[in-house]
Amino acid sequence: MNVVYLSSEVLPFAKSGGLADISSVIPKNLNKLGINVIVIMPFYNMVKECNCTIDKTDITFTVNIGDDAKTCCVYKSCLPGTDIPIYFLHNEHYFGRNGLYNYPGTMRNYEDNCERFIFFARSALELMLRLKPCPDIIHCNDWQTGLIPVYLKTIYGNNECFKKTRTIMTIHNLAFQGLFPADCMKYTGLDWGLFHPAYLEFYGMINFLKAGIIFSDSITTVSETYAEEIQTQEFGERLDGVLRTRSKDIYGILNGIDYSLWNPESDALIAANYSYKDLSGKHVCKKALQRKLGLPEKAVPIIAMITRLTDQKGLDLVMNIFNKLLRLDIQFVLLGSGESVYQDFFKQYAKIVPAKVSANISFNEPLAHEIEAGADIFLMPSRYEPCGLNQLYSIKYGTVPIVRHTGGLADTIFDVRHEKVYKEKANGFSFKEYNADLLYATIIRALDFYKNRSEWTKLMRNGMKQNWLWEESARKYISLYEKILRN
Ligand code: ADP
Repeated sequence: MNVVYLSSEVLPFAKSGGLADISSVIPKNLNKLGINVIVIMPFYNMVKECNCTIDKTDITFTVNIGDDAKTCCVYKSCLPGTDIPIYFLHNEHYFGRNGLYNYPGTMRNYEDNCERFIFFARSALELMLRLKPCPDIIHCNDWQTGLIPVYLKTIYGNNECFKKTRTIMTIHNLAFQGLFPADCMKYTGLDWGLFHPAYLEFYGMINFLKAGIIFSDSITTVSETYAEEIQTQEFGERLDGVLRTRSKDIYGILNGIDYSLWNPESDALIAANYSYKDLSGKHVCKKALQRKLGLPEKAVPIIAMITRLTDQKGLDLVMNIFNKLLRLDIQFVLLGSGESVYQDFFKQYAKIVPAKVSANISFNEPLAHEIEAGADIFLMPSRYEPCGLNQLYSIKYGTVPIVRHTGGLADTIFDVRHEKVYKEKANGFSFKEYNADLLYATIIRALDFYKNRSEWTKLMRNGMKQNWLWEESARKYISLYEKILRN
């Protein structure tokens, strides 16, 4: 089976978020399972900085963006450590910039993102026509690739190469949809008739993700619960109606974890290694963390958060109960960056109560490992969570998560209340309603449980023994590819 994996970011070439990790690891796992896969992404400035060998190919062509013919030069490399080809689509005007989607260091989108990702979609299809064999599956990811399924059913519809090609659209976070003024239609080369509520139109704008949802053969998202949630008004980000029309074609496939990077048995970034068989190293890591962050080396539970500081992550609930929380015998460690209202809040508390609160406002990967290893409890009260990674890192490190029962958190964290510890499935605490009192009550419940050291240790061990493997995700994607190719 020939699969083209299309993504706007792929590690180690360019990254703005988790999509880059996933777009590197899924193709590798597909390949291990016998799939012939290639990857295509834009050639941003960031790609040049990655210290990888990238060769110019002799493939060059032009694509029409509105009335202009724009040149695409194709470069090629391999995903590191593999012979999986990755192609980079180069156009200096569109991608020769320092940001991927935004002006660097800001939340301000480039004004021409519409044109840039039309160029990406059309150039990717032109490249596929020039590479053999023709793809069986084109696996699209997020709004940046949303027009591909539309082109395959319109402008490229009669092309022999794509006659049997099927498309999958994976949604990593429904909040990002690629919304542009109607005027953007003129760059697409598509018939204006498609600017219609049944197709690309969305409250007077053009919506790339909606286009992908409507025109792809199958839709996936990154957990089973999120796949259901996005079809409800509460989580649907105004696309729930559209998603419900595709209900029978929507699947949830959970992301995996890279245990070569996130494993306390081998992690070189932590003070001592440990495993579920011998937890003594975790104690060393806790002391080291307290020392590093200037917290008293006391035997009190450390509650941690590592997160983007955005509304999605339930920080308003934490702020709501923070005073009460600090009256308890705990220490609180935050690592995060994002919206200033949250940054300022935690910074201020760290100043006022330095013996209890450590606020680390930065993006710091090594510190993330040290916190996972040194903390006792991990807090993730997200408003919504497509999959979530930190809860899975946490259980591997014996740092018991408290989560809101939503999206991928609901699919991976099993409350001791529902799953008796001896059943080996319970691995944390969860609460359902998005409510500060409930969060507080769940923290109290966890702290009570923490006092029973042998039960708590069982809970830690349960989580540490569980594995969420990419290979499993890749197998599920392959089954889905086979299914849509049969239809
Ligand atoms: P999301 O993709 O919504 O940000 P996830 O839990 O799926 O949430 O993934 C977040 C990833 O980013 C994790 O690997 C987490 O450790 C990392 N991360 C988030 N904020 C920081 C930070 N300030 N420093 C280091 N790593 C961070």
